[in-house]
Amino acid sequence: MGPWERRVAIVPEDVSKLTSRHIRLLIQSGAGEGSFFPDSQYASTGVEIIKERNEVILLSDVLVMLGRPTEEDVNTARQGTVFVGMIMPSLNHDLANLIAVKKLVAHSLELLPRTSRAQSMDVLSSQSSVAGYRAAVVGAFHSPRIMPMLSTAAGTIRPAKVLVIGAGVAGLMAISTARRMGASVTAYDVRKAACEDVRSLGANFLELGIDAVGTGGYARELSADEKEKERMLLEEAIVNSDLIITTAGVPGKKAPLIITRRMVGMMKGGSVIVDITAESGGNSELTRAGDTLEYHGVKVIGLSNAQSEAQVNASQMYSRNMLSFLSVLISADGIIVDPNKDELLKSTLVRPQSPISSGRG
Ligand code: NAD
Repeated sequence: MGPWERRVAIVPEDVSKLTSRHIRLLIQSGAGEGSFFPDSQYASTGVEIIKERNEVILLSDVLVMLGRPTEEDVNTARQGTVFVGMIMPSLNHDLANLIAVKKLVAHSLELLPRTSRAQSMDVLSSQSSVAGYRAAVVGAFHSPRIMPMLSTAAGTIRPAKVLVIGAGVAGLMAISTARRMGASVTAYDVRKAACEDVRSLGANFLELGIDAVGTGGYARELSADEKEKERMLLEEAIVNSDLIITTAGVPGKKAPLIITRRMVGMMKGGSVIVDITAESGGNSELTRAGDTLEYHGVKVIGLSNAQSEAQVNASQMYSRNMLSFLSVLISADGIIVDPNKDELLKSTLVRPQSPISSGRG
């Protein structure tokens, strides 16, 4: 992961739940420091602190991490070592292939099905809700406006107009956070089913006449014509917003391009776009991951470390997700379960990828 990563995969309060199942725990020294969990807290719960990353890798049968292993980690690991993280094989072909070549096993938790059994392990949901919250907070912070309506002796200030594009887990959290700040919120999603969720949070839903549901209830990628229609119909709402939070994604694909440079050029000076899809390409043409760009007075923030900026709670949630997954991966008597014996293990297996490059439009 990037140098900005501050989360840790297992927090000290969860250690006893693993050691009570006869799992011996090692941690790389300093791994929890970014989340304010120092080595001493782990040591007091019986975790062995290991100085070198390579040593942790060589000594472990199962390696739990936040993102994905490095190429060096994979080259160092013993045959049969199991990695658990968010590896995103469809975006990291070379790594997925190397894992297979080295005869390692890797489970990538973003591949979990969205079923009720998998809910407690659902890292996408836990981390997306933190990202959605942060996006609203960061957007309000960078806006030169206040969010709520104010009626004072000095006149009445209208509430800021917030547009949330994509009303999945992150989008809904962004909506509820912006609503709590008092903004007037409008949201849009290509799944019509999101309309009810949006309205239940007190926001308006934009009806554009597109309903694009694919497998598993997720959005499907729009056709070129639909993409064009979406951009055209969204333009007015985009241009009239003070703050836009973009969260639109299709699993395994690059983020759809929704806000063009031309649209940003038509927005009012002082408007802000916070794009949480920055790492997967961005919903705005001007998004740069981890960077803020100013174009005709509009700030475009490519949020790529949202969870790491609320790292204490993001780590706690991720750690609970991990515990739940490990309770399936490792049997009560400490045996690593054959991935083919359990649907959830099987669905998260990282498989070799062919080197195709995904298009964008
Ligand atoms: P995601 O991060 O993949 O995408 C975010 C949102 O962007 C989605 O709502 C998607 O419909 C929307 N989107 C995609 N293309 C778009 C476009 N061109 N324009 C506008 N919006 C676009 O989604 P997610 O937050 O992971 O959630 C996806 C689905 O999974 C939702 O239906 C959600 O309710 C469901 N879900 C189910 C469970 C469960 O049952 N356990 C848990 C979490 C999420």
